[in-house]
Amino acid sequence: MISGRAAGIAPSATLVLNAKVKELRKKGADIVDFGIGEPDFDTPENIKNAAIRAIKDGFTKYTAAAGVDELREAIAEKLEAENGLDYAKQQVVVSNGAKHSITNVLFAILNKGDEAVIPSPYWTSYPEMVKLADGVPVFAGTDNFQLDARQIESAVTKKTKAIIINSPNNPTGAVFSGNALKRVAEIAADNGIYVISDEIYEKFVYGEKHMSIASFSGLKDLAVVINGFSKTYAMTGWRMGYAAGPKDVMAAVSSIQSQMTSSPNSIAQMAALEALKGGKESVKEMVNEFGERRKYAVKRLEEMDGITATEPKGAFYAFPAIDSFGMSSAEFSSYLLEKASVAVVPGKDFGSDKHVRISYAVSMKNLEEGMDRIERAVKEFG
Ligand code: PLP
Repeated sequence: MISGRAAGIAPSATLVLNAKVKELRKKGADIVDFGIGEPDFDTPENIKNAAIRAIKDGFTKYTAAAGVDELREAIAEKLEAENGLDYAKQQVVVSNGAKHSITNVLFAILNKGDEAVIPSPYWTSYPEMVKLADGVPVFAGTDNFQLDARQIESAVTKKTKAIIINSPNNPTGAVFSGNALKRVAEIAADNGIYVISDEIYEKFVYGEKHMSIASFSGLKDLAVVINGFSKTYAMTGWRMGYAAGPKDVMAAVSSIQSQMTSSPNSIAQMAALEALKGGKESVKEMVNEFGERRKYAVKRLEEMDGITATEPKGAFYAFPAIDSFGMSSAEFSSYLLEKASVAVVPGKDFGSDKHVRISYAVSMKNLEEGMDRIERAVKEFG
């Protein structure tokens, strides 16, 4: 019999949907997939070439458990230059994806029964990761998707060990305000609570400014910043992410990682190093393109009767309300898949049964086609 721990974990909702879409396509179905959260752009050529060079040079062996020095150094420099954060390279651990980084950090800080406060809606993986680490996820509401310090404060108990912040946010696209972040930083500092700040969508902001909660005073020994290469450099398959935080936490993360995976992938580390050191034109181009798609997606959704869209200011998701149709988010998603051959993720998996998540990280052509199909299906329902 499998363990209680394994039995208590749900598989990733987005990956389950992805598998379903692949199966339907294999049978010949023409699906527009708004489900998966990855850029449709290809990994930039300079990054690919760095990986090819690494292979040819024989850089194909285990590396140090926390990643190679050059990459940790480059990450520390990035955090300083772009986020105003002061970390030594020893405080940076490179992992096989930001997902891996977050799980490592939770393993490093949670004891059995410790609580982690998660503003809701949230990225579907956080509660499951907390449970994997024997912790207890506790949800705090948001205010029209904005971080609400008062609701965070109400969720804090003596058992609270961590608060998980994700801005720009998956699934809502909200970019948390400096004021709210500052207030939450104060709550964390006053109560000695760790803050895990997942900033993987930091470059995907449209007119807003991304701020790291770790830049507020009082969090030096409490904040762990998470970031990675999957989204910014269209590198989801390379599996490269990192965490930076207090020395003791990061030393624990490194030990855990050394036992679980030995080290991050050597070739992907060289690709990640080139991503940080090389030109950034491709990032600009992609974010500009996503900005256009965002405008288009929101406009189309706003025009549909029964759907209410809150304008996302960051990431590459829209999270429209669909509750006026009298269906659960799973029923609505199934309806769209069957009726319109469009895949969207039920909001329930992100903490709200009244919404669905639409990723607009797809080509404009697919975006147009998918929106036309949703519009028709929604009209037919009415
Ligand atoms: N954090 C958030 C909020 C995400 O949406 C994702 C991926 O969807 C990740 C982390 C994981 O990124 P990685 O591919 O680096 O594991």
